[in-house]
Amino acid sequence: MKKMILEARVNEYAMRNENPHVPWTADEIAESAARCREAGASIVHFHARTPDGSPLHSVEAYADIIRKIRSKCDILIHPTLGWFSNDADPAGRIDCVTTLAKDRSTRPDFAPIDTGSVNLETYDPATRTIAHADRVYRNATDTLEHYASAFAAACIKPVLVTWSIGFTRRAAALIEMGLVQEPAYFLLNMTDGPYITGHPGTPDGLDAHLRFLPAGRRLEWASNIVGGDLLALAQISAERGGHIAPGIGDYAYQALGYPTNERVVALAADAARSAGREIATPDDAREMLGLPAR
Ligand code: ZN
Repeated sequence: MKKMILEARVNEYAMRNENPHVPWTADEIAESAARCREAGASIVHFHARTPDGSPLHSVEAYADIIRKIRSKCDILIHPTLGWFSNDADPAGRIDCVTTLAKDRSTRPDFAPIDTGSVNLETYDPATRTIAHADRVYRNATDTLEHYASAFAAACIKPVLVTWSIGFTRRAAALIEMGLVQEPAYFLLNMTDGPYITGHPGTPDGLDAHLRFLPAGRRLEWASNIVGGDLLALAQISAERGGHIAPGIGDYAYQALGYPTNERVVALAADAARSAGREIATPDDAREMLGLPAR
């Protein structure tokens, strides 16, 4: 059976009021990345944060994090485009990663393309109220075409982030148009807890994604749940031939006593192995996802 890629999503915009282990500073992110690598992760996804946890977005901050991670281990690097902190000009959201790509020592291996727009309100069923009712994560299609071309020119592999079937169809169009090269790497987002914009983080939610992945294309996919327990889908993700992107950035894992990122990665790796999947190293992931050899 194909090896399973574990991508650690270490912090997003999570604060520490729930899980205190969320890494914020460059040193903390690099340490978390190295421990996740030991636990089986071959890719790390992160957001630069200030020492008090605020969003941070500068080339210098990302360069510092990337150099620190690479000084500790060979994990593949997947920074955010930083929508929360970098929303003024959607087309310019990629300027940070394309600038980082000019220097080989800071070039990200991956960067995300969310292939559509979503309402990112939060809903509280206990009080039947909505917060952030005006919040839209906007990704117009001309922006996506720009991202895809610019990433190809910068030798950055796109992660096609799809939140529902329409996003997947748009990603398939980008592949057909030759803007995204195969093997394509899809991140199949589901949403739980306060987030109601995506497929639920259940086997049915995942299977709905899988049913509409483009047929006849070379692709790999990883599962993710924004606001939900992804470990509950680790076994089915392994059985379906996919990969997985767990971490405490997306969910605090209260039932596990607010674990570290490396603990969550280790549990995902255990689930993969018990489903018969070996764990991919960064070199394995490079080969499976069509990245250049080290
Ligand atoms: Zn992120």
